[in-house]
Amino acid sequence: MKAAVITAHGGPEVLKYTDIPEPQIGPNDVLVRVRACALNHLDLWVRGGLPGMTGTFPHVPGSDVAGEIAKFGASVTNVRVGDKVLLAPGVSCGQCEQCAAGRDNFCKDYTLFGTRIHGGCAEFIKSPAVNAIPIPGDLSFEQAAAVPLVFLTAWHMLFGRAQLRPAEHVLVMGAGSGVGSAAIQIAKATGARVIATATSEAKLAKARELGADDAILHTGEFAREVKQLTGGRGVDVVFEHVGQATWEQSIYSLATGGRLVTCGATTGMEGKLNIGYLFTRQISILGSFMGSKSELFAVLELFKRGSLKPVVDCVLPLEHAREAHERLEKRQQFGKIVLRVP
Ligand SMILES: [Zn+2]
Repeated sequence: MKAAVITAHGGPEVLKYTDIPEPQIGPNDVLVRVRACALNHLDLWVRGGLPGMTGTFPHVPGSDVAGEIAKFGASVTNVRVGDKVLLAPGVSCGQCEQCAAGRDNFCKDYTLFGTRIHGGCAEFIKSPAVNAIPIPGDLSFEQAAAVPLVFLTAWHMLFGRAQLRPAEHVLVMGAGSGVGSAAIQIAKATGARVIATATSEAKLAKARELGADDAILHTGEFAREVKQLTGGRGVDVVFEHVGQATWEQSIYSLATGGRLVTCGATTGMEGKLNIGYLFTRQISILGSFMGSKSELFAVLELFKRGSLKPVVDCVLPLEHAREAHERLEKRQQFGKIVLRVP
């Protein structure tokens, strides 16, 4: 089968469009004919090499997959050949205490398609049958691929971790990213007031189109602007994933009793923290990683109702995976870059 694989850790040049063997499925698996696979910042980390991760090459990246069921194992009952599905991006053991509690993203064996196991940048992907979920509403394959990872991550951050409530103020960092564009919509659908940030005026305009009440540049001392927009109070929740470049100002944007929730650090891992500020303002700092499968069902329900919309920046053929990585690396996108698998 055709696949866009990583042949070594490195820059975009290590991506090659080539032939690799089709995956063999077990009794509880499905084989999905991939039609679309969306990129995430994670793909850049996987390509560059993550600490502690020794890759075997060629490796197929890609965590966000939509396609059709091509085959299923002997024990599978939830799908038929030809069903249009998207894949829950996280794979867990299904047996441990965390999995049993429905917290599969806390499982010690939790992994994502395209990281320790092969992903969706190929004609076919092997997946546990429990990860195959019908595509909601009338979403196209390209739109469906743009949903799972970022909307699930944003949902778990806002509700699972930060416990966002309807009347609260939330600051969504990096509106042009996949998680940012998802968070704006989810927070608005909940009834929260959203201030979004980005790095260009063009992206701020798009953030407002997505429903942000206010949109500001996250350069310099943006906390001052956040305080002005909230009558000197600050926001209840900061939705972080930018990291080092914005960390301190993000903390100073919080109201007393506010919560900062983060799922990433695309600009660097070091963040300064004034401990006095933390305890006198009774601030909470929350880490978040992915979300549970049950949270994905909640997200998809809102897609079915039309309350949430996928944000697709552009669709490129799988052969152009390298170009797609370069676009993401330069932060030129607004929303998801999707690869179409012919
Ligand atoms: Zn488990």
